[in-house]
Amino acid sequence: MKNNTVIFPGSFDPFTNGHVNLVQRALSLFDHVRIAVVSKGRKHTLFSLEERINLAEQACACFGQAVIVEGFSGLLVDYARSCKCRAILRGLRAISDFDYETQMALINKRLYPELETVYLAAREDNLFVSSSVVREIGLNGGPIEQFVPSSIAEELHKGFLLRQGTC
Ligand code: ADP
Repeated sequence: MKNNTVIFPGSFDPFTNGHVNLVQRALSLFDHVRIAVVSKGRKHTLFSLEERINLAEQACACFGQAVIVEGFSGLLVDYARSCKCRAILRGLRAISDFDYETQMALINKRLYPELETVYLAAREDNLFVSSSVVREIGLNGGPIEQFVPSSIAEELHKGFLLRQGTC
């Protein structure tokens, strides 16, 4: 099922081991993964768009040119059309993910019928890993190393240090 490019959209606030694992596995199905960092989504983000893009780039540097990272705003279907891409990648961890993801996939399909959403189940040891857990630990000065790629751990620590007490 090797088929050019899949878009991996998300807040990535910040990028975690769960995201990296999804990208790695998607690359056995697709030639390229285009990580689309949401500029302003439904969630308020701790890190700026530029920081989230930089962190995702560093976290995925190991995949070379197979992975592209860029920011986007507006509707995902419009972004997908503009890149001439017909596949979206999302991860599933829990039933709570499933509700929202099904709704989004169905709406996106209505708006762009050729668009398919591909789900990969979280790897067992990443089931409980989320950006929000990393933010909670990081903002409280705790150890985040086991949840994020080693290439971005130090930069993240600095980012959390700057924000401690401000949130
Ligand atoms: P969003 O705000 O769009 O949910 P996230 O950055 O939280 O953005 O997540 C982006 C995608 O990555 C989502 O499909 C989410 O389910 C998936 N994801 C997040 N953490 C993990 C994980 N630990 N394992 C697998 N998929 C994950």
